Amino acid sequence: MNVQAQPVADTGVGDEDKALFEEMVRRILEQEVAPDYERWEQAHQLPRELWYRLGEAGLLGVDLPEALGGSAAGVEICLMICEEISRQGFGGLASGYNIHANIVMPYILHLGSEAQQQYWLPRMASGEVLGAIAMTEPGAGSDLAAMRSTAERVDGGWKLNGAKVFITNGQLADMVIVCAKTDPSAGARGVSLFLVDTSLPGFSRGKSIRKIGQHASDTAELFFDDLIVPDDALLGEAGKGFVYLMQELPRERLGVGAQALGAIEGALQLTLDYVQQRRAFGQRIADFQNTRFTLAEVRAQLEMGCAYFNQCLQRYAVGEMSGMDAATLKLMLSEMQCRSIDRCLQLFGGYGYTLEYPISRFYVDARIQTIYAGTSEIMKEVIARDMLGRTA
Ligand SMILES: Cc1cc2nc3c(=O)[nH]c(=O)nc-3n(C[C@H](O)[C@H](O)[C@H](O)COP(=O)(O)OP(=O)(O)OC[C@H]3O[C@@H](n4cnc5c(N)ncnc54)[C@H](O)[C@@H]3O)c2cc1C
Repeated sequence: MNVQAQPVADTGVGDEDKALFEEMVRRILEQEVAPDYERWEQAHQLPRELWYRLGEAGLLGVDLPEALGGSAAGVEICLMICEEISRQGFGGLASGYNIHANIVMPYILHLGSEAQQQYWLPRMASGEVLGAIAMTEPGAGSDLAAMRSTAERVDGGWKLNGAKVFITNGQLADMVIVCAKTDPSAGARGVSLFLVDTSLPGFSRGKSIRKIGQHASDTAELFFDDLIVPDDALLGEAGKGFVYLMQELPRERLGVGAQALGAIEGALQLTLDYVQQRRAFGQRIADFQNTRFTLAEVRAQLEMGCAYFNQCLQRYAVGEMSGMDAATLKLMLSEMQCRSIDRCLQLFGGYGYTLEYPISRFYVDARIQTIYAGTSEIMKEVIARDMLGRTA
């Protein structure tokens, strides 16, 4: 059986162009990332220069208008890059890329003023500015409305105070979208978003958080201590932060879905190769019925996941992907990723548990996918609420 690269999208760009772009992305990753990725995993950090190289190669902001430094290529190309990075086994880079190019850039494109777009996006497309988004706090993860960071109105701007945790790209970011309460008495209606330049006084970074996987992706604590940002750092309107977060969730969850599909495909390919070489009881591991059934199930799930992903992408392209679609996609694909890769690893026997075999990296990198960007339990709540209404 030979797994073909699965194009993730059916909208916009023609299939031939997409295939050409996919081939180019594959080559760039093989040249720029593959030779050094293991070293970056061990350093628990991607090198800052990598973002310049990805920018130079045209992989950042592909779906931005050309006037803002992009290639006007369509969202499906950005998602295809997420998928391909994952497929090659670079889960940590996939998360950092997803945050920078598939989340932070679209926030600015969709919500930013013309001046904000002009100021940040061309430099994000070239890799000169690396982006992050800071929602989670030590006391507010799933329950984001409990956030305690504040932004208080001062002459000519806003004064930010608070702390964030688990921020992807946090150690290297030049700009962070920070969620803070501008009206702490208004609950979810009092949250606003700010484009924070990390070189400003009052911004600091804590330690890099050690994780069980996605080692090359840095995950940091951030602190704001009487950090003054100018008026024009406010993204969109004050008090609408939560509305904006909800509005942008479909894109974020498509990114997680693309990562999941890529990782399943990459893990399946590794497994196919392995089981045809390794022998036990006088035959190939591939010849045991259990192996064949496992591979068939993973493949069948991948096809189903791909079909639902494409359906969501088509809805997204016409502005009709709902919060319910996004929750269903995120829940199903991230859970499918963890389960499928676990079953693939099993077919490697003890070798699958060693660092020598890249299937083990696929396994540890997958685990966070059911947690960040909204946990599986929160996704189920969203889906149940859609059917049953809110519980007391
Ligand atoms: C590697 C990594 C990268 C991350 N990147 C970012 C980032 O770039 N930016 C950012 O802002 N955040 C980021 N996060 C944070 C991530 O989004 C949160 O960890 C996640 O939303 C869960 O929040 P929490 O960890 O506080 O868990 P909690 O909210 O404390 O949840 C603990 C458990 O309780 C369950 N639970 C909570 N509420 C309910 C409920 N209502 N019903 C049922 N079960 C419930 C959860 O599902 C979970 O199983 C990252 C986290 C990690 C580990």
